[in-house]
Amino acid sequence: MDTQQKKFVMHFPRKLVDKPIMSSLVKQFDLEFNILKAYVTPEEEGTLVLALYGTDRNLIKAITHLKEIGVRVQSIASDIKMIEELCTACTVCIPLCPVGALYQDRKTMSVRFDAEKCIACGVCIKACPTKAMVSTI
Ligand code: SF4
Ligand code: SF4
Repeated sequence: MDTQQKKFVMHFPRKLVDKPIMSSLVKQFDLEFNILKAYVTPEEEGTLVLALYGTDRNLIKAITHLKEIGVRVQSIASDIKMIEELCTACTVCIPLCPVGALYQDRKTMSVRFDAEKCIACGVCIKACPTKAMVSTI
């Protein structure tokens, strides 16, 4: 079965913040994960933005399990794309991106987009003066 990559925002309630939930999840459902952003709010709710890799079936089982134990899970369905021909490498978007998905290639001085890191927050879409960053959904 094909492995998919899906991105999620997960909110862990205070009682679950210290539990090794992700490490047991990847073992139980044969997944891999890549944490894109993690923080704890003043109310001590833990938030993770991450990409999960696994079969569709295992991803569904894993998300169902997380919801059952009280984790709020939001899927990041939107996909962001850079239209390279429209980018003037003005660099406006680089400091605005919360996860470092936009960066300057030092050799060519062009601005590059790393879709793997992107959490689809949409900030660059609003900020880009030439409309080079778009949502495909
Ligand atoms: S939508 Fe733009 S600003 Fe937001 S994470 Fe993706 S590349 Fe960065
Ligand atoms: S703001 Fe738009 S034009 Fe400027 S570097 Fe970013 S994508 Fe390119």
